[in-house]
Amino acid sequence: MLNQSDEHQEIRDAVRHLCSQFPDEYFRKIDEQKAYPEAFVDALIEAGWLAAMIPEEYGGPGLGLTEATVIMEEINRSGGNSGAVHGQMYNMGTLLRSGSAAQKQKYLPAIAAGRLRIQSMAVTEPTTGTDTTKLKTTAVRKGDRYVVNGQKVWISRIQHSDLMILLARTTPLADVKKKSDGMSVFIVDLRDAIGHGLTVRPIANLVNHETNELFFDNLEIPVENLVGEEGRGFKYILDGLNAERTLIAAECIGDGYWFIERAVRYANERIVFDRPIGRNQGVQFPIADAYIEIEAANLMRFRACALFDAGQPCGAQANMAKYLAAKASWEAANVCMQTHGGFGFANEYDIERKFRETRLYQVAPISTNLIFAYIAEHVLGLPRSF
Ligand SMILES: Cc1cc2nc3c(=O)[nH]c(=O)nc-3n(C[C@H](O)[C@H](O)[C@H](O)COP(=O)(O)OP(=O)(O)OC[C@H]3O[C@@H](n4cnc5c(N)ncnc54)[C@H](O)[C@@H]3O)c2cc1C
Repeated sequence: MLNQSDEHQEIRDAVRHLCSQFPDEYFRKIDEQKAYPEAFVDALIEAGWLAAMIPEEYGGPGLGLTEATVIMEEINRSGGNSGAVHGQMYNMGTLLRSGSAAQKQKYLPAIAAGRLRIQSMAVTEPTTGTDTTKLKTTAVRKGDRYVVNGQKVWISRIQHSDLMILLARTTPLADVKKKSDGMSVFIVDLRDAIGHGLTVRPIANLVNHETNELFFDNLEIPVENLVGEEGRGFKYILDGLNAERTLIAAECIGDGYWFIERAVRYANERIVFDRPIGRNQGVQFPIADAYIEIEAANLMRFRACALFDAGQPCGAQANMAKYLAAKASWEAANVCMQTHGGFGFANEYDIERKFRETRLYQVAPISTNLIFAYIAEHVLGLPRSF
């Protein structure tokens, strides 16, 4: 059952084959060294997997979100961590949907060919957190440049990206009718920006996730790097979130299957009291429970994918998929850890690493409470709570 095939088997087999060249020992060592999985990311880019959603006219294969999520799922299911690369999948979407023809021609073919990385998106700020419309980073137009000042936090993969999508305020909050107006999106070329108005300070954290504080001190961005219309940037970012959430749901599903496979294997092998521990209902039932939750979350993930690929609204389904999958993978992580007893804590079993990695997704890119708030307000018609 765990390995039953589906209509995406060809992609699954190809990604699994690539991942098999990067076994547990590879990711364990990368984690221990707090390093970036360069060789793995290079192999994914070389094989074209991270360009999956770039349309054919820009040199990509033009696959849907469904296929893109299968790629991410398989990476995590193989024991890897898509967190090192998933930005490349969804950040280019902002450019594709809202960028000018010239921007698309300039960047997308190079991204599709693997010559440019667009791994980073800078939204979160230290003093305003989830209350995004209050963000304080400003971009002020001066002639043919925007001058950016402010601070961001938790901005991932900066040190392994060429480009970054930046959300900054271009009209003060006090001067806009709607608080979501007056923010704009920019493409920041990190190769020019770092050291010339942009300072990057890495944040040591629970997982081996390259994430940073950013300090903008009169960073100059050419006006041609403004994406879409000035003042409509918040909408452009929101438009990309459904893909991001659904991709991350699929990563959690991949983690979930990985935990279940490991738990089942160990429960069958480990002999205590002269029998496999998996013969005890106290051991097998929680594994079955966690598996059911992952299967259910997976249905919502494919529902979100189908709607997205059909061009239909999918905000509710993308949020629900992310919520269900992050919860299910965390439950599977706990069960896997418990099934392994003391050995679950040993680095060489990789469970503690995946346990830490999957925990992130109840906080980022959107925390569970904010998903509840979205469903309460936008689906159920309850009063806005903030
Ligand atoms: C490893 C990592 C990588 C990240 N990468 C990026 C990135 O690349 N780019 C980027 O822009 N951001 C990134 N983030 C930031 C991430 O999106 C935020 O951490 C997340 O959205 C939560 O925001 P916050 O940390 O500011 O929490 P806060 O907004 O301070 O909230 C703290 C807690 O309070 C709860 N809360 C707040 N307000 C309410 C409310 N009204 N009702 C109920 N509960 C509430 C939240 O749910 C949360 O649990 C990353 C974060 C991490 C940890």
